[in-house]
Amino acid sequence: MRAVFISNPADIAPGAVCFVSIGTGSRGHELARLRAMHQDTVYLVALTVQEVDAVLQADLFGAGADDILCEMDPRQLVSCLMRARRHLQLRQREERWRQDMQAKLDIWQHGLDQLPTPIYVKDVEGRYLVCNAAFGNFLGLSSDRVLGQRLQDFVPPEMAEAYHASDLQLLRQGGVMRTETDVCLPETGMRHIMVHKARLDSERGEIRGVTGVIIDITERKELESRLIEAAERDPLTNAANRRKFFQVASEQIADAKPETILAVAVIDIDHFKSINDELGHAEGDVTLCSIVDTLRSQEAEGMLVARAGGEEFFAFFPEQAVPTAYDMLETARQDIARYCQVQTGAGAAGTISAGLAYFNPSEETIDQALRRADIALYQAKRDGRNRLYLAE
Ligand code: GH3
Ligand code: MG
Ligand code: MG
Repeated sequence: MRAVFISNPADIAPGAVCFVSIGTGSRGHELARLRAMHQDTVYLVALTVQEVDAVLQADLFGAGADDILCEMDPRQLVSCLMRARRHLQLRQREERWRQDMQAKLDIWQHGLDQLPTPIYVKDVEGRYLVCNAAFGNFLGLSSDRVLGQRLQDFVPPEMAEAYHASDLQLLRQGGVMRTETDVCLPETGMRHIMVHKARLDSERGEIRGVTGVIIDITERKELESRLIEAAERDPLTNAANRRKFFQVASEQIADAKPETILAVAVIDIDHFKSINDELGHAEGDVTLCSIVDTLRSQEAEGMLVARAGGEEFFAFFPEQAVPTAYDMLETARQDIARYCQVQTGAGAAGTISAGLAYFNPSEETIDQALRRADIALYQAKRDGRNRLYLAE
């Protein structure tokens, strides 16, 4: 530490100890001016020759003095300088720590801004405290515009309302939460997103807000639905498979009231073997698909068609489709006879025969109903084919 006499207060460097002479009647205006100019980077000593009573002391400290020295007594001056050194060292350490923290925060912010995943922190009122550039892009804004605002300032009220409600639930229950929704983004259009968020608690357990990341799972969802589709569909005809048939049927049966009537049918293509023999297997496939398409045109009315195996199909009729079940099958049979029939050496082929069974699921299982429908189908075959029979 060395003493330098400076006449211009603007030239005082950080870390300086400044002795400010307090004249009679002065209440420390010069101190206040220096404090305002240099904040707490300097140590200000009020130097006075007059008696310092409690009122003057309060005034001088209030104006910004760190210390008061009554006269230039060497011993008092030494202890004043020692206090100044301790004070300024502490200040320097604090300043270094602050700069260190700021540098770390800058690295964090920079790192977060490089990530393509939107990240945010908001307070309990829903005001954004921190976010990265991707979050700004997500809202179609720069991240600076987002800070201090709430979601309702950027998105339609229903969307803001839904997110607010789930934030409130998270703030109440704590822990983490995962939500999935469709959102329409200005740049990418409709996307399916997952918001993974957590309640932000302080070390002392005070609730501070919510922090979250937004993960775009559109591709994963599309793959998922393609896999589900593949697991439920017959690849050749694209009709439902047995698994889907029994899944839909058991859901309906589980929901059925005691008096509910449902219906099933078993459908088989007539003389299909001779179509293969005559036209070849590939053409047989094409004919099979046309027959299925004609059958499935009734699905719009509520009937579900599933490939049971080979050239045999099941149909399921939920409660609302039961009254027209017979008509739907009969329409399909006639349409198939009209459009899909093939003349082979064995005569007409490619028509369908079917057995239809109504059943009350509280009295009979679906397997029993399918067996009755199968018996009716074989009676239709025996009676000449291309016909629809009701099961007994
Ligand atoms: P019916 O009127 O008594 O039912 O006579 P059908 O010839 O239809 O019955 P059959 O059980 O003798 O033969 C069924 C034929 O269906 C034999 C089989 O090769 C053919 N088939 C089963 N699945 C397919 C398929 O995916 N593609 C083709 N092209 N043919 C198939
Ligand atoms: Mg057949
Ligand atoms: Mg068959």
